[in-house]
Amino acid sequence: MSDTAQRERTADEQELTRRHREARKEIRVVGDPVLRERAREVTVFDRGLRKLAKRMIRTMKDAPGVGLAAPQVGVLQRLLVYDVDDDPRVLVNPELSEFSDETEEAEEGCLSVPGVTLPVERPVSVHVRGSDEYGDPVDFRAEGFTARVIQHEYDHLEGVLILDRTSRSARAAALRAMREDGGALAAPGAGGL
Ligand SMILES: [Zn+2]
Repeated sequence: MSDTAQRERTADEQELTRRHREARKEIRVVGDPVLRERAREVTVFDRGLRKLAKRMIRTMKDAPGVGLAAPQVGVLQRLLVYDVDDDPRVLVNPELSEFSDETEEAEEGCLSVPGVTLPVERPVSVHVRGSDEYGDPVDFRAEGFTARVIQHEYDHLEGVLILDRTSRSARAAALRAMREDGGALAAPGAGGL
C-alpha cells in the first residue's frame, strides 16, 4: 500500500470515528427520563417531520445501528426509522397487531443501553400499520429480524427498554456491568437498535 493510500485510509477512519462520536452525542442513554415516557401521536406531516426522519436515519447509520426511535434523540413523537437491508424506512404512528404465536429469543443490543446485549423473547412476525414521513399509509407483515427491530423500536415509543423485556437475572447483571464499567461502556455493541 502506498503512503497516499495509507493516508487516505486513515483519513476515512478518522471521519468515521468523528461521525460515530457525533451520533453518539445525539443519542440519549438509560437514566435519561425521556426514554421512559410515552411518545405522542404525530399529527402534522410537514418538512420539519421529514427533516427529523432524515436526521435520525443519518444518526442511526453513523452510530452504527439498524433502528432508532424519536425518543432516543429526545423527541417524544411516534416516529421510528430502521434499516435492515440497506434500505432505510420511516414509520410514523405505527400500530402493531396480529402477533405470531411463535416466539424466538435472541440477543438484542440498544443504542440507549450501551455496552450490553440481553436475551429478549419476541413474536417472530407481526402486522404493521401506520404511515411514512409523507403521511402515506403503510401496511405490511414484518417477519424475522425486521419484525424484531420494529418491535424493539415500537417499545421505545412506549417508554419500554430491553431491560424490561429480559429475565430478572439478565437485567441485574446488565445493570451491574453498566455501573462497574461506567463511562467505559460508551463503546457500542454492533448493530444497536
Ligand atoms: Zn433501543
